[in-house]
Amino acid sequence: MGRLILISNRLPVTIQDDAVGQNGQTVNRSSGGLVAGLDPLHLNGDGIWIGYPGTDPDENTRKLLAGMRLDPVIIPDSEYTGYYEGFSNGAIWPLFHYLPEHCNFDPSAFADYKRVNERFAEKILEHAKDDDTIWIHDYQLMLVPSMIREKLPSARIGFFLHIPFPSSEVLRVMPQREELLRGLLGADLIGVHTFEYTDHLSRSFRRVLGHESRQGVVNLSGRKVRIEAHPLGIDVESQRKAAYSDEAEQILIRYKRNISDAQVILGVDRLDYTKGLPNKLAAFKALLDREPRWRDGVVLIQIAVPSREAIGSYRDQKSEVERLVGEINGLYGRPGKTPIQYIYDSVSPDELGALYRLADVALITPIRDGLNLVAKEYVAIRDDGAGVLVLSEFAGAATELGEALRINPWDVQGTADQIERALDMSFDERNERMAPMHRRVVENDVHRWVDRFIRSLGSAGAEISSTPPMLHSNVLAETLAGSFASASKPLIMLDYDGSLREFTPRYEDAKPTDEILKLLKDLGSLNGAEIYINSGRDRHTLGEWFKGLNISLIAEHGSWARNKEQSEWKRLGPPPDLSWKTEVRSILSDFVSRTPGARIEEKSSALVWHFREAENDIGKWQSLDLTTHLENTLVGAPVEILTGSKIVEIRQQGLDKGRAYSIVEAEQGPFDFVMATGDDRTDEDLFAQLPDDAFSIHIGQGGSLATSSLSSPASVRRLLALLVQARS
Ligand code: UDP
Repeated sequence: MGRLILISNRLPVTIQDDAVGQNGQTVNRSSGGLVAGLDPLHLNGDGIWIGYPGTDPDENTRKLLAGMRLDPVIIPDSEYTGYYEGFSNGAIWPLFHYLPEHCNFDPSAFADYKRVNERFAEKILEHAKDDDTIWIHDYQLMLVPSMIREKLPSARIGFFLHIPFPSSEVLRVMPQREELLRGLLGADLIGVHTFEYTDHLSRSFRRVLGHESRQGVVNLSGRKVRIEAHPLGIDVESQRKAAYSDEAEQILIRYKRNISDAQVILGVDRLDYTKGLPNKLAAFKALLDREPRWRDGVVLIQIAVPSREAIGSYRDQKSEVERLVGEINGLYGRPGKTPIQYIYDSVSPDELGALYRLADVALITPIRDGLNLVAKEYVAIRDDGAGVLVLSEFAGAATELGEALRINPWDVQGTADQIERALDMSFDERNERMAPMHRRVVENDVHRWVDRFIRSLGSAGAEISSTPPMLHSNVLAETLAGSFASASKPLIMLDYDGSLREFTPRYEDAKPTDEILKLLKDLGSLNGAEIYINSGRDRHTLGEWFKGLNISLIAEHGSWARNKEQSEWKRLGPPPDLSWKTEVRSILSDFVSRTPGARIEEKSSALVWHFREAENDIGKWQSLDLTTHLENTLVGAPVEILTGSKIVEIRQQGLDKGRAYSIVEAEQGPFDFVMATGDDRTDEDLFAQLPDDAFSIHIGQGGSLATSSLSSPASVRRLLALLVQARS
């Protein structure tokens, strides 16, 4: 087991240039949820933490950081602005929070984003070894996983996204959507806060990139990427320590004295347009407008933590919020009574803890929020059972905090209703709702979150394969000839389309040429050798094309087999349930009618939508649309949807080329030489089933589980001719 390399935008320290007249810098460890979770992992291990230091470290600081195993990524200011304020917070942040109107997809900001991601990747590569575990955090670094994967194909890479992942329909707005998604696919495990985000990611990989992805796994050729929901927990211990400190006690007494007997509603938000502060204020105003009894009976304490003030939309939000606070206080304030106590500042952990203890109601109203830690912190502190959590359904935390009073922040009157319900709620009901949430938050703290992610990452990536070396057929023949010639019972299993025969625009036209038939005849006459064609084609076509040859056939991706000695086809596996076919056929027909050049192929246990003859972009686009539509329609049906080379195939579940190999092996093996070829996803099932000492050959570029690659069907034929010579 190697080391753990952690990567986040910022290092877990704050470096400050000392006051005028003094030399040097001071370095303080940061606090906060994520750092609290990752710090023990870092401190107890021997790994490195990589991140931006905030300011250029001087010589002493560098030494200090090195001693802490923190390695700073130095980024010129001009580049940092484009990367951080420009693309990260000016494009990804608003779009992923469903606010395209706040987005600026400036290409030069994206260039900076890419350059900075490269700087991070270069830094990681200075440290990383093959057996290290690399854990990259958040939306600022979405391109890094693939940058690392390219250089270290067998590294174990985890990525965690701390913000929402939007619906694929929203993601599609982003001009750089493909690059971002491809960047993420370098990871073995992508973690997000909720199941909803896993669905969105999974669908985006399918919809935007055309990758087969289902049940939280994206299938790349030769590699799988897992997508999992791991909601972040909080550092319960330190939160509680702060909330019950002597200092917090003093603060609490002071607040209580000021507020007298009014109930307290608390809001704690970064001043961000995603937090729904105007919505919250509108609902609070609606309550005071319609219910005079609360005008004296309640105080809203709103902490607004300054944030990203360099960005115009944040400054606009601040003005808007301050205007609304002024309006409400002007309307309903009286000497000695201010309905909203608005604090535009951050507060100490002790003060925050005291406020959590003080608040009768926590009012959390984001219009979109990846998770929302404040909600969990409030719940963690309130083991007295007396607080009520009012929480937006658009916060990721709402999925775990089901007993909260849930609001839609756009529904002003509905939110006001729930605030009132919270204020009027009996102690018993408060306790009934709070107690289970409290237990859940305490049990699933940040340390548990770290454990779960790391454990899951440990088991991900087991199927990693790199790009197999591309060899010349002569070279490969030299490697194989000896063992093939001397084997007493060799097996050669050949894929047909794209492996033995080039594709043709119309799939019916890809008949075997005389050269291929001659080659198969020669192979079939080799003493003791078992030769198979293992194809996705239907059995009638294969039977017709290879009639009279001394070779065995497997048709329809492992559904049927015909041994060379027999004339009958045998079904492999149980009779299929084909009840889905009628509906699927009608969907495919619909897509044929709107895609010039597309066609349907009918097989006994599958239907195939071919688009090789369609115009490139239209075919690709329609195939993505079709796949998404089928996925939705066929939930729970016993089928698999495969995307092959210019095809979408819907086939009976449970059959594949690999299973067919296992059956052949069991019935006719053992073989003392096994060679197999294939060019697409369906052949990967076969490669995965082969014994360790088998020779598997992938045709074409790209990743595969195969042990080597050849460039084209022509080189496969050359190789086979040389093997025939070797054994003749
Ligand atoms: N917080 C803080 N200083 C403050 C007020 C709040 O550090 O003055 C913390 C708060 O305890 C919480 C975090 O800021 O841990 C806010 O996290 P959340 O997920 O609610 O929102 P984010 O700011 O990450 O969007």
